[in-house]
Amino acid sequence: MSKCYDVVIIGAGPAGINAGATLAEMGLQVVLLDEQQSLGGQIYRNISHASAELLADMGAEYQRGRELVARFEQSGAGHEPGATVWHVEADGHVYYSKEGTSHQLKANYVLVATGAMERPVPFPGWNLPGVMGAGAVNNLAKEAGLVPDCEVALVGSGPLLLLEASLLIKKGVRISTILETTPKLPPLTAVAKLPPALKRMDFLTKGLKMVSEIKRSGAEHYKGVTKIKALGKERVETVEAYSDSEQLHFPAGLLLTHFGVIPNTHIFRLIGCHLEWNQEQRYWFPKADQWGRTNFEKIFAAGDGAGVRGALAAEYRGELAALELARCLGVIPTYERDLLARPIREAILHDHHPRPFVDAVYAPLFSKETLDKDTVLCRCEQVRVQDVRKAVQEGVRDVNEVKIVTRCGMGPCQGRMCGPALAEVMAAELSAPPERMGTLTVRPPLKPIPLEEVATMELEGSAAQPADLFKNQSK
Ligand SMILES: Cc1cc2nc3c(=O)[nH]c(=O)nc-3n(C[C@H](O)[C@H](O)[C@H](O)COP(=O)(O)OP(=O)(O)OC[C@H]3O[C@@H](n4cnc5c(N)ncnc54)[C@H](O)[C@@H]3O)c2cc1C
Repeated sequence: MSKCYDVVIIGAGPAGINAGATLAEMGLQVVLLDEQQSLGGQIYRNISHASAELLADMGAEYQRGRELVARFEQSGAGHEPGATVWHVEADGHVYYSKEGTSHQLKANYVLVATGAMERPVPFPGWNLPGVMGAGAVNNLAKEAGLVPDCEVALVGSGPLLLLEASLLIKKGVRISTILETTPKLPPLTAVAKLPPALKRMDFLTKGLKMVSEIKRSGAEHYKGVTKIKALGKERVETVEAYSDSEQLHFPAGLLLTHFGVIPNTHIFRLIGCHLEWNQEQRYWFPKADQWGRTNFEKIFAAGDGAGVRGALAAEYRGELAALELARCLGVIPTYERDLLARPIREAILHDHHPRPFVDAVYAPLFSKETLDKDTVLCRCEQVRVQDVRKAVQEGVRDVNEVKIVTRCGMGPCQGRMCGPALAEVMAAELSAPPERMGTLTVRPPLKPIPLEEVATMELEGSAAQPADLFKNQSK
């Protein structure tokens, strides 16, 4: 028989940890599932085992994670590390794989707090060995204390690009260049959003400090670059780009890319949750009310997976969702929920001041010219930009039709790496907004698992046979 919980939480980042601790402290049966081996999510990855050196490098913000984890551990909430969730049903069944065995859980409510992922942006050579996400290098530093031992170049856009550059500089890594696609001058839309951001001088000062650290390091730093290319025979050797009409060329033993982060919406799409489009940041996020409730009664969303707002907001939104879940489960009355929520909402407002400005400054830019026709778009199935353009020219109008015709998005990553860019390529070709292209359909298993694991699972509920699990519930 599958275990039954009041709440199953997926994702042990600040949102999931805080929600789990809040619910368990109220005496509810909670379990937190995460594919990572320890609590912390992306920002506080491996925080419990971090060395003194890493803690010093990462600064006070990283250390905040220790308090969160300590509170969670004392709360009595359950934690399943190394648990990869590969299916969730709207009725509260959750399926995960751990150490070669798959399990089914039943929950009165499921809180999806699966965070964000780096926005994948294809450019010529992005699939060469030696080109990797800046977030991956950040993960290696937190997880294993590893830093690159060669000359590094960074390309892309967003505060985390600069954060990663400044961390590498602290570790003594040689950076040849930072090539930002962010315009040299902020757009007018950003200027209008500056006054509220000034209320958070601590945040802006942190950004300015990172820029001055980069300057002092001697790394060449360009903004407004276009036409980025990673070049090399067996692996990346150099990076090329344009600043106005000047061609730039830099050595790159390792080329780190980062183009901002977007919500990880796979579980929401699998269930069939309604999505909304963020026009400025060009991403989908689940439609949810102020407590994180989606259009499915039992499915809640919190943290960056529900819309990217950063680690502190994730923590607060996890707590808000927990308060509403506690009310739904009859542990607290409505007035108490509202009373407890008031200071959290004030903290959210304070934290939010700089966000509209930052989002406007780092609004992603796409145009037909930014994508070279020979660029590999879908790395799993080796589909190129020109294959997608051809399908569009032949009359295909929906990302799922392109998937059928070209196999773009049909590989094991289920479109994580190509889905957002696929919509952009189609939209640019048709001079239409990308949200009109739709989203790739997601089916279980969310992550590849051996069939044997599914076949040997003990099941109950709506799926009487393992094969029933693979029906598409979002249609
Ligand atoms: C690679 C990366 C590195 C980042 N580093 C920083 C940083 O150094 N500083 C900073 O300020 N911000 C950083 N961010 C942004 C930061 O992630 C968020 O603001 C914050 O961590 C969001 O918290 P969260 O609780 O919403 O989700 P997260 O912290 O992202 O946690 C989500 C968790 O869900 C788990 N998960 C996802 N899918 C599944 C699944 N199917 N099964 C099981 N578990 C699953 C993940 O393993 C992860 O632990 C980073 C983002 C990324 C993508």
